[in-house]
Amino acid sequence: DTGETKIMVEAHELLKKFYHHLLVNTKEGQEAFDYLQARGWTREIIDQFEIGYAPDSWDFAVKLLSGRGFSLELMEKAGLIIRKENGGGYFDRFRHRIMFPIHNHHGDAVGFSGRLLGEGQPKYLNSPETPIFHKGKILYNFHQARLHIRKHQEAILLEGFADVVSAVQAGIAHSVATMGTALTEEHARILRRNVDTVIICYDGDASGIEATFRAAELLADAGCHVKIATIPDGLDPDEYIKKYGSDRFRRDIIDASSSLMAFKMMYFRKGKNLQNENDKIRYIEEVLQEISKLSNPIEWDYYLRQLADEFSLSLSALQEQLNRHRNNKI
Ligand code: ATP
Ligand code: MN
Ligand code: MN
Ligand code: MN
Repeated sequence: DTGETKIMVEAHELLKKFYHHLLVNTKEGQEAFDYLQARGWTREIIDQFEIGYAPDSWDFAVKLLSGRGFSLELMEKAGLIIRKENGGGYFDRFRHRIMFPIHNHHGDAVGFSGRLLGEGQPKYLNSPETPIFHKGKILYNFHQARLHIRKHQEAILLEGFADVVSAVQAGIAHSVATMGTALTEEHARILRRNVDTVIICYDGDASGIEATFRAAELLADAGCHVKIATIPDGLDPDEYIKKYGSDRFRRDIIDASSSLMAFKMMYFRKGKNLQNENDKIRYIEEVLQEISKLSNPIEWDYYLRQLADEFSLSLSALQEQLNRHRNNKI
């Protein structure tokens, strides 16, 4: 009910402020603060994202919340604390972690993701699904990015929290990310309601490239115009910005984003030698398969001509093969 959800949000807002205070003002948070500075994040960006530190304690949140009169049973439902197995009491879900507060689209804190200060597993620990936190419906930073998204008529979709923080610090305020899970239809609808064009800029590793295909399909199905920004050498946006700087990220990655078809063509080319007959035919079939999925005849024509030109093929032969793909779904 709405009374309960309001109290859950209040608890998140309260904890968020304490975690942030611990990070930026106390000796307890020094190690975490040093870690974030070593990642290249300024005090200003840490404040903007209200990043915090959950202390190395089993009952920091339990004590704080119960001291402020919050029902611990409700706080468990909010995902902030966990009930001990053998009966009595509760303990903190988030301990000794960098805390990224997650806000709903109104800007209320409704969840957290906690990152380890170094390497280890699990690297990120998220709030569970609760009455106020639904991973499949929330985009990280959407509440701050929304106006910029509208202004630029474009949204940048990234993979991780750290990527969003670094991109925003680099001046790309219209950046959002999913919650470490795949993009959902609901996410795609939310983006479509606010913008025509979405630039997907996922990590440059194999799983990022695979996720790009899935996200692109969902966004295109929702009616978005999709563009793809690819990062070389398996880097993610955060790592790329650290290595090459903000200007190069904007110019060589975001502004250089390609159409979805160009991205697919690039992907199908990988590991093939297009001088080789078999590879060439496989490549052409793969591209035809993709062209056959397009609904716009102007696009078919455009890409068919491109294929015809590149491989000195007749347009009519390609057209015939395309029709087979369309009819038989080869
Ligand atoms: P960092 O730069 O802090 O190491 P990252 O964003 O590069 O983080 P990735 O390994 O690329 O981390 O994972 C992408 C996203 O997937 C993360 O931002 C996080 O949302 C989610 N994620 C990663 N590892 C885990 C995990 N062990 N449990 C839950 N979510 C995770
Ligand atoms: Mn802007
Ligand atoms: Mn990454
Ligand atoms: Mn990273």
